[in-house]
Amino acid sequence: MKQHSYYNHISGLLKCILSLVLSTAVALSLESLGVNAINLILIYLIAILLTTLETKGYFWGALTCIASMFSFNFFFTEPKYTFEVSDPNYILSLFLFLTVSFIASTLVSRLQMHVRSSRYNEHQAHLLYEISLGYLNISGIANIFDYAVKSLNEILEYPSMIYPAKGQSELIRPYCPDSLTIKDMPENNTVALWCLTNVVPCGCGTSYFPTSKWKYLPVKSSDNVFGIAAFFCGNKEISKEDMVIIETILSQMALTMEREQMHDSQESIRMEMQKEQLQGNILRSISHDLRTPLTGIAGSSNFIMESYDRLDKKTILGLLSDINTDANRLNQLAENLLSSTRLQEGKIQLSKQEEVVDDIVYEAFHRVEKNKKKHEISLHMPDDVIMLSMDGKLMIQVLVNLLNNAIVHTTPTADIELAVYRENNYVVFSVSDNGGGIEEGILDKIFEPFVTTPGKDPDSHHGMGLGLSICKSIIEAHGGTLLAFNNEQGGATFRFMLPCKKQMQSYYEKLTVPK
Ligand code: ADP
Repeated sequence: MKQHSYYNHISGLLKCILSLVLSTAVALSLESLGVNAINLILIYLIAILLTTLETKGYFWGALTCIASMFSFNFFFTEPKYTFEVSDPNYILSLFLFLTVSFIASTLVSRLQMHVRSSRYNEHQAHLLYEISLGYLNISGIANIFDYAVKSLNEILEYPSMIYPAKGQSELIRPYCPDSLTIKDMPENNTVALWCLTNVVPCGCGTSYFPTSKWKYLPVKSSDNVFGIAAFFCGNKEISKEDMVIIETILSQMALTMEREQMHDSQESIRMEMQKEQLQGNILRSISHDLRTPLTGIAGSSNFIMESYDRLDKKTILGLLSDINTDANRLNQLAENLLSSTRLQEGKIQLSKQEEVVDDIVYEAFHRVEKNKKKHEISLHMPDDVIMLSMDGKLMIQVLVNLLNNAIVHTTPTADIELAVYRENNYVVFSVSDNGGGIEEGILDKIFEPFVTTPGKDPDSHHGMGLGLSICKSIIEAHGGTLLAFNNEQGGATFRFMLPCKKQMQSYYEKLTVPK
């Protein structure tokens, strides 16, 4: 800043000297051509106006006026090359020259100032417009604070920062420009806190804490204080023009904050409503799903108890098998519900360990075997033993869900295939069937919760539509991907791949190389 004004002084002085030298040289040459001395004075007037135009303020113009008068007196009035004036007419001329040149230079200087200030205003208006546009595209409290601080520091010459308010009596660490070092910061935030609790401007240039080097302004809307903006003004007051800019930026910031808060509260109301609706749906669905197998279990067990003596062994075994199927269904339902609550809370915790893929697949296969009707389930496993780091319990749950779906969503005579094979650095698991395939309408949202259609077998019950969404989350938590598509030759395929470590793969490759 200081360097800048020093430069201005030097350049003003040089311009002043240059215009004086040039105008004197021109006047001397014109005099040698016989031009009247009174006319030559106009050359100086032009030089004064040009100097005023080229320099800032009145000072250099006024200095050129005085210097020009002396120069004219020295070079062109009798007796020449002295500062004496013999002709009283010249005294009047010099006085008039001085007055006219002063007035002209003052007018030009004022005009200059007006032009400069309107250019400055235009520039500031443009900047403010750009800043307001920026606010339109911003969301998130932190981004709004960040943007406001950046805008203030871009437009003002002195540093500024904003303390976000936490309630009505606490301030958090301020947002400040990177250029602001600790030593430039206020020693403590007592004044800022006072500003927050009293919601009035304070600090330098105000009647509260006037000795502070910072000025504090609350960032507020009609009923909220969002933070306290602080401006380093040293011992000077902030100019009126700057105050207009500051207030505009801060009030736009408050408006944006209000919009954000409104959006947040609308969003939370919407979420709350959705949650309530969802909870209602889940409860309805769960009670329906629980009631069907429970009614079966209660009915079959009651029948056995009441007619035990009249029933033959085969019928009793058949009824017990139904009870077992229903109990398994309930068990699977409970597993899915448990997983889904864990997922909703965002804490699907994998207890991973090295598992033999064959063991996982066979366990899942055995669990669903009792549920199938006349389905043919074939297994295709790789020849070598594959070990993968996974949560075995959850992986079994995925396979059971996929196999059960293939049973429920196909006709009782459909074929189902479970295949496991290696592909590059992945182990691929694929459950496919030759049933009717996935309904086109739900294909693109099949992994969303509560997307469901009734089973193909009239005896089958309507699911909750949670199974696939849980499968997807479990697979993704393992770093894999789950895909669903309809086969060209009919039926559906669900395929997921789990990454296997490279070194492990090569280890097994070594093991399976024929000797
Ligand atoms: P649910 O089985 O309880 O309905 P899921 O999330 O497991 O829920 O499945 C969602 C939907 O995906 C099912 O309702 C069904 O429409 C479709 N689906 C799943 N597996 C198959 C399959 N093998 N064949 C055809 N459609 C399927």
